[in-house]
Amino acid sequence: MKLLAATLYALRIPFVESFSHSAGERRWSDSVVVRVRDDVATEGYGEGTPRPYVTGETVETMLDHLAKELWPRVVDREVPSADDLEAFAAFLPETHLAGAIAPHASRAALELAVLDCALRRTMRPLAALLPPRRNRVTYSGVITAGPVARAVKHARQMRAIGLHDIKVKVGFEDDVARVAAVREALGPEASLRLDANGAWRFDRAGEVLNAVAHLGIAAVEQPLPRGSVEELARLRQATPVPIMVDESLVTRADAEALIAARAADFFNVRISKCGGLAGSLAASLAALHAGLGVQVGSQVGETAILSAAGRHLAAALPAVAFVEGSFGTLLLAEDVSVESVRFGHRGGAPILTGPGLGIRVVEERLRRRAVAVRELTAEG
Ligand SMILES: [Mg+2]
Repeated sequence: MKLLAATLYALRIPFVESFSHSAGERRWSDSVVVRVRDDVATEGYGEGTPRPYVTGETVETMLDHLAKELWPRVVDREVPSADDLEAFAAFLPETHLAGAIAPHASRAALELAVLDCALRRTMRPLAALLPPRRNRVTYSGVITAGPVARAVKHARQMRAIGLHDIKVKVGFEDDVARVAAVREALGPEASLRLDANGAWRFDRAGEVLNAVAHLGIAAVEQPLPRGSVEELARLRQATPVPIMVDESLVTRADAEALIAARAADFFNVRISKCGGLAGSLAASLAALHAGLGVQVGSQVGETAILSAAGRHLAAALPAVAFVEGSFGTLLLAEDVSVESVRFGHRGGAPILTGPGLGIRVVEERLRRRAVAVRELTAEG
């Protein structure tokens, strides 16, 4: 199997309602979808979500990196048969991007597209490489930033549809009151987590966490900015609330340093952030092996492509503490697949069994929602 052509789509799909947190506000999806085509015209789709504050990538650097660094090194080369995720991912070169932590959104998009194509060529599902250990995945609700009254309204809605795992964005003046109000609206049974997106300094983190710990907090995500693992380890000792790392965990070196410093209780593994399925699986297994819990996270505004990949990973891990994503048209004005990936009542969603990633992407929707389209061939 050889790859002969690729198309890059820079998407801008409006959100039904804007989503905000302490590091910014989003009103539309700005992911990049990659379609690859092989020598017998099989197609595969992948997606990456460039975030300047996560991996250091932007839509522009991602298009450029895919076109100039990654694609020229895979086009017209023999793709290994897709029966081992690790060997398959090794087919993609390790690349670097000046000024970025790692070009992981680019790598994830291409990895997923090539994997989807290779599996579809032989009509096999991704489960052939990542056998599921559970037949349903249960998703969390995520409460966006904004006025406390709106957070409470969202908490009540989530309680009404039976979501058990809820995360609320923090990192504001009113954090303690916000968390108390959300806990009150959710009731005592729900599992509640916080995500500060790196907004706190050490003292503020300790102050808020010690003030809300009695409300029953399952974990706090990224309380401090990406930086010193020793400082994070000190915070972990200073608060009873379990620590989850997100922005601090991008590369394999990050994972190793965090584990060695005993700086976290949970890893938030996200496929775009961690450079694809192979990288995400490796980070997850490293965490589980070290006795940490794993959350399979998502990127706000991702389409069904990344949601499908996340579903497979969450179904396949030996243990998974929390799962996020698969919001589909709860967030996007339109999603890109024939099948809906949106979670249902109580946050449940079935595993995907179709060929490749298990969804059929509607190319016409990509074209209609794209603000830029680039065609790549063997000639470049
Ligand atoms: Mg986060």
